[in-house]
Amino acid sequence: MTSFNFDVITLFPKAFESINNLGVITKALDKNIINLHLHDLRDFGEGSYRQVDDKPYGGGAGMVLKPEPIYKAHDSVNKFPNNKTLLMTPQGKVLKQNDLLRWTNLDQLIIICGQYEGFDERVRCLADEEISLGDYVLSGGEIPAMSIVNGLSRLLPGVLGDSESLKDESHNNHLLEYPQYTRPAIFKDMKVPDILVSGNHNEIKAWRKKQMFIRTLERRKDLVKEDQIQEFPNIKET
Ligand code: SAH
Repeated sequence: MTSFNFDVITLFPKAFESINNLGVITKALDKNIINLHLHDLRDFGEGSYRQVDDKPYGGGAGMVLKPEPIYKAHDSVNKFPNNKTLLMTPQGKVLKQNDLLRWTNLDQLIIICGQYEGFDERVRCLADEEISLGDYVLSGGEIPAMSIVNGLSRLLPGVLGDSESLKDESHNNHLLEYPQYTRPAIFKDMKVPDILVSGNHNEIKAWRKKQMFIRTLERRKDLVKEDQIQEFPNIKET
């Protein structure tokens, strides 16, 4: 089996050390299901100071990442046939589970992390897609990049112990997962629903499906598709 390759261009490669200690991702790295190549932007900086940023044209606060080091770093990446370059930016498309799913068909994601005030506008030409982690501003693209490495890796065959767990989980098929319980059956006067201890697998399946709709309508109605609502006409919004 060929590995999925992540190539991350970053000023803070050390930030990615923590990814090595994250359960299933450690396993994915150990089993060579994924490869993680870190490219230190500083190595592509200019002059004896290895300069990677400069003041913005037109004035204003902070520093902007220069285009040349990012282009050089991107050029230096060993490209696999089926690759995409992602630019981490709060101005991008907000990341969805579906994005992670469709990228699993690639051989490689090259991820560019910004820092400071962001990057020179001309860096955008390198990107196939511009991706945001959400509608808030972080200090750098490293946490968004780690989220992508983490979220995509667990979708690859052989990473999760039981791939069944991907089937009903939240954000698959536009629904949130049903409520989950484990032992004890009663905890602080809160009881596990009778149906789950009934042993009737068909009824449990039906209950769970209904719960997924109720949950999603209650919490994230924006996720539910019109035809899914028709499938469950008797579920009232609360
Ligand atoms: N001045 C920029 C924000 C810069 S934040 C603006 O207003 O658009 C510095 C860097 O952090 C960005 O270049 C980007 O790589 C990363 N970053 C910050 N928030 C992010 C988010 N929500 N999603 C993805 N990347 C983000």
